[in-house]
Amino acid sequence: MDIKDHIRQIPDFPKPGINFYDISTLLAHPDAWQVSMGRLAKKVAAWQPDVLAGIESRGFLVAAPLALKLGMGFVMVRKPNKLPGDVKSHTYDLEYGSDTVEIQADAVQPGQRVVICDDLLATGGTALAAINLFREAGAEVVGVASIIELSFLEGRKRLDVPFDALITYD
Ligand code: AMP
Repeated sequence: MDIKDHIRQIPDFPKPGINFYDISTLLAHPDAWQVSMGRLAKKVAAWQPDVLAGIESRGFLVAAPLALKLGMGFVMVRKPNKLPGDVKSHTYDLEYGSDTVEIQADAVQPGQRVVICDDLLATGGTALAAINLFREAGAEVVGVASIIELSFLEGRKRLDVPFDALITYD
């Protein structure tokens, strides 16, 4: 099965010039969804993680089913002020301004092996922020996985951990 057949491209969303890769059509197709999570689970398992992290919000749709499949815990990486209790934050620079990602302070234990999941890797800035957040929390990031890689943006070059994706657009 070619997973690309189930990804819809929406031009000029959310703003002119951006080609949006929409995974809604994949999620809505039971076989394609099952097959893609099975294939990604094999890649992620090879890194022998203890816990899987998903980046809000479409990353949750990747990490949560993989964590269930692989029998491991799932951690939410969220935008600021969404998580209750003590949190750890990491702020990173964007082209204009900055952004912050957060996890709950007890989400990972020092030394735990974490794989970070998202729907798509573009410039790699979001994944890099999540890597730094888990490192600051004392965890070891052993890989980053996504359904889609936009290889022309060279995001994987910014990551100093293994990266794998199910499908790539050049
Ligand atoms: P980046 O930090 O540049 O790697 O961007 C990755 C994040 O932005 C992911 O959480 C994606 O969901 C989202 N994203 C960036 N570009 C696109 C795109 N062309 N289509 C869909 N999602 C995108």
